[in-house]
Amino acid sequence: MLSFLRKNAVRPSVTMTWLGLVAAMPTLAGPHEHGVVHMNIAIEGKRIQVDMTAPLESLLGYERAPRDGAEKAAAAKMLGQLRSAAAVIEFDSQGQCKADATTISAPTLEGKADAKAAHSDLQAKYGFECTGAQKLQTAQINLFDVSRRISRVQVQVAGPQGQSQSTLRRNKRQLKLSK
Ligand SMILES: [Zn+2]
Repeated sequence: MLSFLRKNAVRPSVTMTWLGLVAAMPTLAGPHEHGVVHMNIAIEGKRIQVDMTAPLESLLGYERAPRDGAEKAAAAKMLGQLRSAAAVIEFDSQGQCKADATTISAPTLEGKADAKAAHSDLQAKYGFECTGAQKLQTAQINLFDVSRRISRVQVQVAGPQGQSQSTLRRNKRQLKLSK
């Protein structure tokens, strides 16, 4: 009887830990795999938040600070493109979305990252205000046009219709947002 009680007492905390891990996952970067970009899209009311993690290799071809003028120019061009949310993702016109906040973080490009690290990511966050968020049907992943090295975008969506996962490719760029 005592062991039965103890078992029951332990189980809820194990479950809670597991749920805690699952809930925390969307904010973590996906596993670093060249050619694969991870994107989390959170839809809450009229707000949409897109968090992206991309291996630098898949954007530039290397994962270190740029070394010469040509590399610096290429890195600046890529960063300039990514500052525009539309270069990454475009929601359909029903959503009436306006990008209003962009943050890009790539310490390696500024020479601030651990020089011994073999791999490095770029992280970008895009905020949108969408007056028609409830009518949204699709989004187009335009990121494939930023770099030929990107072969796959793994998207996780969390919104009023629950959570879903999709794999988008160069020839399949449309993300379905409604069921
Ligand atoms: Zn890498």
